[in-house]
Amino acid sequence: MINPLRPSRFIRSDRLSVSFEFFPPATEEMETILWSSIERLAPLAPQFVSVTYGAGGSTRERTHATVRRILAETPLTPAAHLTCVAATRDEVDAIVRDYHDAGVRHVVALRGDPPDGAGARYAPYPGGYINAADLVGGIKRAYPDFEISVSAYPEKHPESANVEADIDMLKAKVDAGASRAMTQFFFENDLYFRYLDRVRARGIDIPIVPGILPVQNFKAMTGFAKRCGASVPAWLAERFDGLDHDPATRKLIAAAVAAEQVIDLLDRGVTTFHFYTMNRADLVYAICHLLGLRPTVQRAA
Ligand code: FAD
Repeated sequence: MINPLRPSRFIRSDRLSVSFEFFPPATEEMETILWSSIERLAPLAPQFVSVTYGAGGSTRERTHATVRRILAETPLTPAAHLTCVAATRDEVDAIVRDYHDAGVRHVVALRGDPPDGAGARYAPYPGGYINAADLVGGIKRAYPDFEISVSAYPEKHPESANVEADIDMLKAKVDAGASRAMTQFFFENDLYFRYLDRVRARGIDIPIVPGILPVQNFKAMTGFAKRCGASVPAWLAERFDGLDHDPATRKLIAAAVAAEQVIDLLDRGVTTFHFYTMNRADLVYAICHLLGLRPTVQRAA
């Protein structure tokens, strides 16, 4: 239960660190929305902003263009997501080289979903990296100065036999050179802390940054959660119940739910957060404000 008067919630904002995840826009209209969101969130001085890589490498050019524009036109540090799907090692290595040549120094390295979509059987591409750990190793060997982040799954990845198998994969990614993991989104903080205990018990000491998804669209989120193995608690469904045609109230509820979640994490010692922005700034900005983050004066690009 949250007690709004508890003083522990106010920590110095310079002890907080946030990162924001965006996806590359597919249309001009989406591009406008993305850039106004980046402009709005940039003064919060995130540690980095990451740009996803569409399923099967479908956004390769758009991811690249978005990352380059962030580098050229903003003071932000971009991180480019990259997967092993449907590409040979040489092709992936060429993308990594392009990023390095462009001045990018942070990659979020992932295996990716099978080309037939999440839930289908994954088979490594002929001549490609076999999994995320293999990809991390390939990048790190070619460019030791790349910072590499990876995924983590507090509720286990749907393809994993159990959480231990999942943590084995995380360990392999860390041994290959990953220095940070961002989690799949979750709504029950106890799941995150239980997972963290197991990860630490395995001797993995990199930051495991909670991935926070402000629920912009409850229906769409439940479909996505099902595919990626994240549970949606009944209390959450109840909070959005009856609001299908009431976007204004939905937004207020979404802000309240995410605020409750991050403040509980903060109270329990978490000071680093990764936000799945869905390219929208307003909820994320409000939640960061609540955490104590305030706009900083921008350096010139
Ligand atoms: P890994 O960490 O390599 O594996 C996850 C788990 O699955 C491990 O436990 C492993 O043991 C198990 N596993 C892996 N392969 C097999 C197998 N063949 N058989 C049995 N078990 C197996 N997807 C995108 O397409 N683009 C993105 O930009 C993107 N960004 C993401 C960012 C974050 C922070 C997260 C959490 C996920 C992201 N994803 C993205 C989704 C991700 O690609 C999928 O979840 C994918 O299915 C697994 O990739 P991974 O690198 O997380 O997998």
